Amino acid sequence: MRLEYTRRQEEFRVEVREWLAANLPREPLQSFDTQAGFEAHRAWERKLSERGFSAVTWPVALGGRGCDLIEWLIFEEEYWAAGAPLRVNENGVLLLAPTLMEYGTSEQKAHFLPRMARAEDIWAQGWSESGAGSDMAAIRCKAIRADGHYVISGQKTWSMRAVWADWLFGLFRSQPNSQRHHGLTFLLLPLKSPGISIRPIRQLNGLTGFAEIFFDEVRVPVENTVGEEGAGWSIAMATAGFERGLMLRSPGRFQQTARALVELYRRHRESADSDPAIRDAVLRSWIAAEAYALATYRTVCRLAKGGQIGAEANTNKIYWSELDLLMHETAMAILGGRAELMPHAPDAAGVGHWLDGFLFALAGPIDAGTNEIQRNLIAERMLGLPRSLSG
Ligand SMILES: Cc1cc2nc3c(=O)[nH]c(=O)nc-3n(C[C@H](O)[C@H](O)[C@H](O)COP(=O)(O)OP(=O)(O)OC[C@H]3O[C@@H](n4cnc5c(N)ncnc54)[C@H](O)[C@@H]3O)c2cc1C
Repeated sequence: MRLEYTRRQEEFRVEVREWLAANLPREPLQSFDTQAGFEAHRAWERKLSERGFSAVTWPVALGGRGCDLIEWLIFEEEYWAAGAPLRVNENGVLLLAPTLMEYGTSEQKAHFLPRMARAEDIWAQGWSESGAGSDMAAIRCKAIRADGHYVISGQKTWSMRAVWADWLFGLFRSQPNSQRHHGLTFLLLPLKSPGISIRPIRQLNGLTGFAEIFFDEVRVPVENTVGEEGAGWSIAMATAGFERGLMLRSPGRFQQTARALVELYRRHRESADSDPAIRDAVLRSWIAAEAYALATYRTVCRLAKGGQIGAEANTNKIYWSELDLLMHETAMAILGGRAELMPHAPDAAGVGHWLDGFLFALAGPIDAGTNEIQRNLIAERMLGLPRSLSG
């Protein structure tokens, strides 16, 4: 086996590196959980799209770059190593787009995908409701068909980016007396529709990354259905598979965090070395990030030969979320009491953005389906264990 890049892949890496060096914003962008930061990130997505870099794996005709998965990994490695901004349209580009490519009509693809690539539409996800989080089949928010429209009434919650996003995709109960995963329909709707109220939710860092969404007889044209009426569950499961599977958290992101952690450890070596557990955690973090990268290359090679993503969707999600937490907890331990200083505090020199990253990492085991639920799926589907002790 020869583990090396082709000449074309090396050239692509150089192109990405040079483009990023020439085009990266000079100052870090404000968080996209603020209005100004959201628009700055939208402008950055537009800039990326000029080179097909906002959605590198999509066909050129739809606004992408036509890259294969190895080139995608190369792009991601360069992107995170350059310290480039977080991606504000992940929900659209990484989750809805593959769903539309598989289940959307040709009109939906032609309309929504190029707009998404240019960040004209930024998307939020609408699955969760109070009482329907892990148990998503308990969704109650209803969408009743009348006169070529669905009329939506009810509530969604925990919708990331919904405070400033343009569109929402989500799952709604279109058959009023249906049970569980039957009678659910996958719909696309503008968040500025009449009848929608959005209530921001403040997160641990004080910013409003989440929102509750209230629907009061919101009318959505039937053309905005993805797939058949009532068949939304299996489409949403495909979207969730894209979320947990390969693309949402590329290894480049964790390798970059691991490098930053090693740097942080070196800068604080005197104090950090007094606790062997910290050195051990730094080493484990670096090794785990490299192992994740190699495992992803292995998966990508298998997919290139026509394989399927399979059980990695569940194991990956647990792996990257626990790794991210380990790295940020280790950074907090290295920084000690100063870890809690905000980056602009007078004594904060050198604390960087570890606190923000730590707060975000805390959410990793919860979002995209909690790690407990992933473990249930692994137990039942991979290991064939019974659902309960009696079963
Ligand atoms: C950062 C972040 C971003 C998010 N973004 C979105 C978004 O954009 N759109 C959206 O719709 N939702 C979003 N969510 C919501 C997320 O999908 C839910 O929080 C998650 O599915 C858990 O649901 P819940 O909060 O209702 O908790 P619950 O389902 O009430 O779970 C509470 C606890 O019980 C455990 N538990 C529940 N059932 C079982 C079981 N059967 N076996 C074992 N343990 C169980 C869970 O693991 C958890 O620890 C986001 C959440 C976070 C943290």
